[in-house]
Amino acid sequence: MVSCRLLFTDLGGERRFASIVAKRLESLGALTQGDRRAGPSLSAYNYDSVYGKKALMVMYRGIMEQELLPVVPPGCSSDKPDTSQEFIMKAKAALVSVGIVRDTVLGNGMDRGKLSGRIIDSDMHDVGRFLNRLLGLPPEIQNRLFELFVSILDLLIHNARIEGNLDSGIIDMKANFIELQGTPKKVHVDQMSGASTVLFTFSVDRGVTWEAANAMLGEKQKDGLVCSNDGFYESKREWLGKRHFILVFESAASGMFKIVRPPVGESVREMSLSELRNKYRKLSSLEKARSGWEDEYEVSSRQCMHGPNCKVGIYCTVGKRVQEVYVLGGIILPVWGTIEKALSRQARQSHKRLRVVRLETTADSQRIVGILVPSGAVESVLEDLAWGQDIDD
Ligand SMILES: [Zn+2]
Repeated sequence: MVSCRLLFTDLGGERRFASIVAKRLESLGALTQGDRRAGPSLSAYNYDSVYGKKALMVMYRGIMEQELLPVVPPGCSSDKPDTSQEFIMKAKAALVSVGIVRDTVLGNGMDRGKLSGRIIDSDMHDVGRFLNRLLGLPPEIQNRLFELFVSILDLLIHNARIEGNLDSGIIDMKANFIELQGTPKKVHVDQMSGASTVLFTFSVDRGVTWEAANAMLGEKQKDGLVCSNDGFYESKREWLGKRHFILVFESAASGMFKIVRPPVGESVREMSLSELRNKYRKLSSLEKARSGWEDEYEVSSRQCMHGPNCKVGIYCTVGKRVQEVYVLGGIILPVWGTIEKALSRQARQSHKRLRVVRLETTADSQRIVGILVPSGAVESVLEDLAWGQDIDD
C-alpha cells in the first residue's frame, strides 16, 4: 500500500481519471434508468466485481499477447492492425514500468525489441492494484488503458445482461424526499493529493401520502385508462393488529401489477389476479382507504414493519418510510479496497457487497454518486478509513 501511494504524483492525471470514472458512472446510471421497466435491473458497475476481475484478466492476457483482445483498443482502428500492435507494445511497457509485468526479457531475432515477461497470478485479478498503479502512469497511456479496461468490462456486462445473469451494481435511489443531513463529514484524506473522502448522511423518505396516492388514481381515471382491478386494497391478514393498504394498477403486460405502498412507494410485481384477490380485498369506500392509508403512512415513519420488537433492531429498514442513508463520496478510488474489506466483514450477506448509489436531493437538486454504506456497517467502515491517520476537521 505504501509503495502505491508514492505513485500518486500526477494530480492532473488523477483528476482526469476521477472524472472519467464519474462520467462512466453517469452514463451507466442513465442506462439503467432506461431499463427500469424491464424489472429491477441494477447493472454491475463495481470495477472490483466478478466482471471487473474477469475484464482485467482478459485485458492482461491481450496485452501479454496470450490471447486476442476482444475489443479494438481506444485510439486504434480495426483496419489498421499496426495501430493495435503499437498500442499493445506501449501498454506492455507501461505495465512493466509500474511493476505489474515482471521478469521482463527483451527479445532477440524475430522478436527483436519485443518485451516479454509475466504477470503473477495474484495480480491477474487484482483490480484495486491495477487502478492504483494506473494512477502512476502518464495521462495518455493511463486514459487509454483505463478505457480499454472499461470497454472490455462493458462487453462482459453486455453479454451477461443478454444471458440474463446480471444482478448487482448501481442503485438509482428514488424517493419522494431526499435531504442532506448536516455537513458532509471528512473521513479520510489522501496524503499525496490532499483530496478527501466524505461521508454524506441523507434522510430519505420513500413514502406516498394519501393525497398523492389518490391523485395517481384520479389521474388515470381522468385519462380513461383505469382498469376494473385498479384501486385501493387492504390486506386480509393483519400484522401486529394492523392491515396493510395498497394502491394497485393493473399493467398492460398480463400478470404484472404496479403496487404503491404508503411507506415505500411504487414497485412492480408479477402475480396472478387470483393471488391478488387471495391476499387483498378491494375497497369500495374511499373513506376507509384514506384512514387506513394515513395510519400506515404515519406509523411507518418511525418503525419497520416488524414493529417495536423487531429482532434486527433499530437498523431494520423493512417497510420503514424515513431512513438514514449513508454514502461515501469525494475521492473514492484510493480507499476502495479499504471500504470493500470493511464491508466484507459484515455479518449480513446483503451488507457485504460494495454498491454504487446515485441520488439527488429534492430541494436543491444536488446530485451525489458514491458508495452506499449500510447503516449497520458505518462504524466499522469509518474506523478502517481513519486507521493510522489524523483528520483535521
Ligand atoms: Zn424489522
